[in-house]
Amino acid sequence: MNSADNVVIHGKEWKQSDVKEQIEFCLTKKWSLANFKKPNHDHCEICWWTLVKTEDENHSVGYTDGYRWLCRECYHQFIESADSRFASNCPA
Ligand SMILES: [Zn+2]
Repeated sequence: MNSADNVVIHGKEWKQSDVKEQIEFCLTKKWSLANFKKPNHDHCEICWWTLVKTEDENHSVGYTDGYRWLCRECYHQFIESADSRFASNCPA
């Protein structure tokens, strides 16, 4: 197995090819940090991590585009790094 083809999210290995489409989709959205406050729960768009209103910040704090959610780990690993790459090309 070639480890370069894998990504680790929350200590679990994923095939890059399994999350690539979700990442590309999420890169087209604008995300902002938020506390999860909805009465039900939701899932990270990329790794399916549970986001829910709880004391545990790992599950209660994520990034949202107002509709979908990302866990902080996916945001930092896939979106933030890509954003700063785009930012240098696009000063707006
Ligand atoms: Zn995630």
